[in-house]
Amino acid sequence: MELFYIIMFFILGTVLGSFYNVVGYRLPKGESIINPKHSYCPSCHHKLETFELIPVISYLMQKGQCRNCKEKIALFYPLIEVLTGLLFSVCYYSFGLGYELIIALTLVSLFVIIVVSDTKYLVIPDEVTLTSSVVIVITMLISIGIKETALHVLSGLAMFFSMYMIMLFGNYLFKKESLGGADVKLMFVVGLVVHPLIGFFVIFVASAIALPISIVLFQINNEKVIPFGPFIMLSVILFYFLKVDVKSLIEYLTFI
Ligand SMILES: [Zn+2]
Repeated sequence: MELFYIIMFFILGTVLGSFYNVVGYRLPKGESIINPKHSYCPSCHHKLETFELIPVISYLMQKGQCRNCKEKIALFYPLIEVLTGLLFSVCYYSFGLGYELIIALTLVSLFVIIVVSDTKYLVIPDEVTLTSSVVIVITMLISIGIKETALHVLSGLAMFFSMYMIMLFGNYLFKKESLGGADVKLMFVVGLVVHPLIGFFVIFVASAIALPISIVLFQINNEKVIPFGPFIMLSVILFYFLKVDVKSLIEYLTFI
């Protein structure tokens, strides 16, 4: 039975992952994400049939190319679908059925969309951050009540405003944009799901993961700007999944 659910969540993940590809790819360009009739090959604009829209499987059946123009379909898209499927399974495996599962799935979904939009356009659409925040707040309201939810929202605001101040300070110091406004808005989501104190560790871990990867990308790709959003999300997901709480964090810190 457990395995059945894990597989179901994997399939659900690949289907939604395919939708998140569309969201991350089209929303920053201001295109419609709802009308499936408008799914097309980005190269020849050939409209995709239903059987060309099955996650992963259609990619494999078409041997990774468009049926019409034979243009190669980037491996990035099926990889995103598989990644979402795997993450959804891990969410179910870690949290079982319950409100924490909904929050975990929301965080994972936000992560995947940001990976697509931030690596493609260096943009995180506000709609995505806002929708995720609303889903998380409603889930909390239903499960833990108004009082507890208010604390989580306050924590989110605290996180948002402290990052906003850091951004202003950084801009003043370096006389240019040091931190993206979208990353600051993302910190609201971080504060929503973890304690503000842990929020700062989220930033620290995100930077620690981003640094070596940026250095490698600088070397091989000569990329000048590396999006930070995906690393923030990856880090907060780690903290959320490992269920790190403030008490054990402080105990650990005083131990060293
Ligand atoms: Zn084509």
